Amino acid sequence: MRRPVIAGNWKMFKTIPETRAFFSSFLPLVSAVSHCEIVVAPPFTALAAASASVSGARVAISAQDVYWEKEGAFTGEVSIPMLIDVGCTYTIIGHSERRQFFGETDESVNQKVRAALAGQLQPIVCVGETLAERDAGKAADVVRRQVRQGLGRLTESDLSPIIVAYEPVWAIGTGRTATPETAAEMHGEIRRTIGEIWGSKAASEMRILYGGSVKPNNIQELMRREDIDGALVGGASLDPASFAAIVKYL
Ligand code: PEP
Repeated sequence: MRRPVIAGNWKMFKTIPETRAFFSSFLPLVSAVSHCEIVVAPPFTALAAASASVSGARVAISAQDVYWEKEGAFTGEVSIPMLIDVGCTYTIIGHSERRQFFGETDESVNQKVRAALAGQLQPIVCVGETLAERDAGKAADVVRRQVRQGLGRLTESDLSPIIVAYEPVWAIGTGRTATPETAAEMHGEIRRTIGEIWGSKAASEMRILYGGSVKPNNIQELMRREDIDGALVGGASLDPASFAAIVKYL
């Protein structure tokens, strides 16, 4: 059984006071939730405040990115021990905005994933095709390559802490959600790829989230699909009531 995960990615939104205000509204709304894991990924500057706010609650804190070196002359970067120090248990790796705007590659995703695993931080690894790639009929090839290379050089036993998020770039922040059929088909591709490389047990245990304009009004239909184990939510995770409604999709 794969435990569902609903994760919120705040991107470059919310100050420390806004983070505290979010959790004071959000936590009472989800205090009875036990059917899924809840993860919130605030910006680096709000991670410590977020961790303090969720102390004692069943909400995990994630970073939105990480660097693979432990420390050193890497201006602007944040290491795994630093994230653990502020209470993170997860980090997003390879978000399409990092790939599109900040030069993230499958190779850098792989270095980050391997470092995160070594440092006991659980990676949420994002994959997904652009609209041009989908229109060219290459969606499955692109995502298969991102999985193969992003998770490259790992053994079957390395995989269990990893979550994969399928986020078609054309659906992120656009209001254009993939249909549950398209999402489920791509989740199937990802699971098959994992099965081909690491075996059927690894494939059946891997949690694969869908991301791309998930809202309270479409989460239920997505979650009905066998291969969809949860959601990575951007815009709709910024508001406590809408994120709580997504968490309570049942
Ligand atoms: C995201 O940032 O990962 C995302 C899926 O954003 P949105 O829900 O706003 O499309």
